[in-house]
Amino acid sequence: MARRYVIAGNWKMNQTPAQTKEFITALAPMVAGKDNCDIVLCVPFVDIATAVEAAKGTNIHIGAQNVHFEEKGAFTGEVSANMLKEIGTEYVIIGHSERRQYFGETDETVNKRTKAALAAGFKVLLCVGEMLDARQAGITDELVAMQVKLDLAGISADDLKNVIIAYEPVWAIGTGLTATPEQADETCGVIRATVAKLYGEAAAKEIIIQYGGSMNDKNAADLLAKENIDGGLIGGASLKTDAFTAIVSAAQ
Ligand code: PEP
Repeated sequence: MARRYVIAGNWKMNQTPAQTKEFITALAPMVAGKDNCDIVLCVPFVDIATAVEAAKGTNIHIGAQNVHFEEKGAFTGEVSANMLKEIGTEYVIIGHSERRQYFGETDETVNKRTKAALAAGFKVLLCVGEMLDARQAGITDELVAMQVKLDLAGISADDLKNVIIAYEPVWAIGTGLTATPEQADETCGVIRATVAKLYGEAAAKEIIIQYGGSMNDKNAADLLAKENIDGGLIGGASLKTDAFTAIVSAAQ
């Protein structure tokens, strides 16, 4: 089975509900009929209901940027899977480097959140990637393989079908620095080989692996042309309808 491109926007902490409605209303006709990839927007929690409503009848899918692993309880500031499900969320980003860097997310909590999200029926965009010092020290491959192993621990081959792995070198996120297509492809290949070791060759061939890190309308085509890159997780450029549409077009 050929892998399908997935182009996902990560809005981070940007856009109010009113801006969300306006953005999706403008974007929908621009990406209409571009059906060779799945199009996802991961928006702030408070924008999800508005985004789902605005995206009804379009080819745009809506995701969240995190989910807690418990069903409910004394976890101030967190949001559960069933809360997100009820308002029409389909995807959830887990383990983004900003969660790992600024909010104490670890491979253990990423694994727990991933399991909870899969149990609730979400598609998970699982983020891994090395810091600059790791790349400079030449340990990117080991580090990324370790993240994949820890983050997927205990996840069945059946559940893996709903996991998309986003390779995001931390030094390339929001910096304007992009991994070269060759660097990105090589590390996505390491991720695919790690999945092969864990789940077998067939699962490795099927799993969708995105690149993320300053992907934009100029560099998307070269990155997406690489064998192991099946899409993009896009921050800054997903906040501009023109740039995001151009990336979607590059995945056709
Ligand atoms: C991201 O937020 O996952 C990301 C890749 O951001 P940017 O495209 O802005 O680097």
